[in-house]
Amino acid sequence: MAITLQFRDDGRWREVELRIAKDAVVAIEYTIRDQEGEVVDSSEGRSPLVYIHGYRQIVPGVETALDGLEAGHGIDVHVSPAEGYGDRDPDAIMILPRSVFPEEEDLETGSMFRAFRSDGKPVVFSVLEATPEVVVVDANHPLAGQTLHVNVEVLSVRPATANELAHGHVHAEEPRPSPDVS
Ligand SMILES: [Zn+2]
Repeated sequence: MAITLQFRDDGRWREVELRIAKDAVVAIEYTIRDQEGEVVDSSEGRSPLVYIHGYRQIVPGVETALDGLEAGHGIDVHVSPAEGYGDRDPDAIMILPRSVFPEEEDLETGSMFRAFRSDGKPVVFSVLEATPEVVVVDANHPLAGQTLHVNVEVLSVRPATANELAHGHVHAEEPRPSPDVS
């Protein structure tokens, strides 16, 4: 059963149903498996993932599947590359001279590093191959090109505050709006 909160604004009661919809702050636990059933990512042993619904802060296929759910619900969804981490882009594989990396850095297949684009956004690279002369790196998301099986448990749903919507991210310490009990 959905929980409905009532707030009083300007002498009127406004109802907020705690179902997942645009502008809801949603806390989830998730497990992502690849086609072989191997766990490739999970919130287990970590803090839940908390995001603002409706802004593509999580992969589109999962976000759409969560629409309308409430705390306590769980879903299993298959996510295609188009609705997940995208297709693998061959142009994201680059060959760089070894000399651009610090000499003391240990580079081997599977090493990961981050670089920052000119707009400040981080790009994560993984090393496909390293030789004394060149390093082949891949900027594709490690899960790009894969159909994934995602299990999500919804822990909590609440309306985002005005501040959170203005900033575009969740504030851990944001005071929750409280019903007017007068
Ligand atoms: Zn903020």
